[in-house]
Amino acid sequence: MTQTQKSQILSLRAEGMQYKQIAEQTGLTLASVKMFFSRQKQKHCTQCGKLLTGKVRRNQRFCSKACKTKWWNTHTDMLKNSNRPVFTCAVCGKAFQAYKIAKYCSRTCYLKAIRTAHPESGIQTQ
Ligand SMILES: [Zn+2]
Ligand SMILES: [Zn+2]
Repeated sequence: MTQTQKSQILSLRAEGMQYKQIAEQTGLTLASVKMFFSRQKQKHCTQCGKLLTGKVRRNQRFCSKACKTKWWNTHTDMLKNSNRPVFTCAVCGKAFQAYKIAKYCSRTCYLKAIRTAHPESGIQTQ
């Protein structure tokens, strides 16, 4: 199997093709396509589930920086939070920790602030 065939297989797979279709496209046998994937340590993006293609680093878990940021934003409780600065919410006055300078403790407070400043925007808070 040539390097070209290998990258062809990977890109076809990334497009969502079945092993059988990949075999037809590349002119390889189904068995060798299957073998190729069983040898590959396939990894999927932890955030969006997309197959990681190209050069995958040993501890790579995300397909993109955007996915990584998204994941960490939704798993903040898994991080050690003792060193984070504490802010006071401009809406409810609650103290909260954040990674970057923040004015509101939650999305609800953020929306409340926007609604107060721009009542015409029609944004509803839950
Ligand atoms: Zn992703
Ligand atoms: Zn708040």
